[in-house]
Amino acid sequence: MTEPKAIAIDGPVASGKTVVGRLLAQRLGYRVLDTGLMYRAITWQALEDGVDLEDREGMASLVEEHDLEVRFEDGGEASIFLDNRDVTPYLRLPEVEQGVSRVARIPAVRDAMVARQRSIGREGQVVMVGRDIGTVVLPDAPLKVYLTAAVEERAQRRYKELQGLGTGVGYEQVLRELQQRDRLDLEREIAPLRPAEDATIVTTDGLNVRDVVEWVVSLLGKST
Ligand code: C5P
Repeated sequence: MTEPKAIAIDGPVASGKTVVGRLLAQRLGYRVLDTGLMYRAITWQALEDGVDLEDREGMASLVEEHDLEVRFEDGGEASIFLDNRDVTPYLRLPEVEQGVSRVARIPAVRDAMVARQRSIGREGQVVMVGRDIGTVVLPDAPLKVYLTAAVEERAQRRYKELQGLGTGVGYEQVLRELQQRDRLDLEREIAPLRPAEDATIVTTDGLNVRDVVEWVVSLLGKST
């Protein structure tokens, strides 16, 4: 079996893609890039700079003015640096989470992020996780997986995660916000969330993460 250069994992919020991507990368000794972090970093910077998230020109300038860098640590995990500062710890803040899908609709933001993601993809040995990796960023990836699960199951997962972090957010609110983010991702004009034609679709309801990873590993042999 020849090793694939890059593996694309896409899917909606809380479909399991991040944890599957991370475990898969560990299993293969690859790097892992959760591309959502890059859109989150731009959102965080816009909030810091007071740029209106709907202002397309303002957001385009912001992307040009700040230097976004993806750095991979020894374990293969990515951290996001903006102007040489590690902003990764801020990227799960609720205000970032609530704004990110609006920012991700802006063409200049997407163009800049996709260009970086492609160059990381060309270096190889990477599991890339996102919404448009199989369709736009790495259309030639030899293995593409699209993970999904029922919206209630995904909201339940996210709710438990947030409870673990000690936030007092209720399940109904989590469900509403998740549905809104899905809608923005599915309905946007550029690179909407959808499986690539050659992706393998996996419904993860009730599935154990390790089983999903083993299953993807078994696909590797068939894809190369
Ligand atoms: O995956 P995560 O929840 O961190 O992604 C945050 C947001 O970034 C998504 O809701 C989506 O709007 C955007 N995104 C995107 N394309 C990607 C990855 C994330 O549009 N490849």
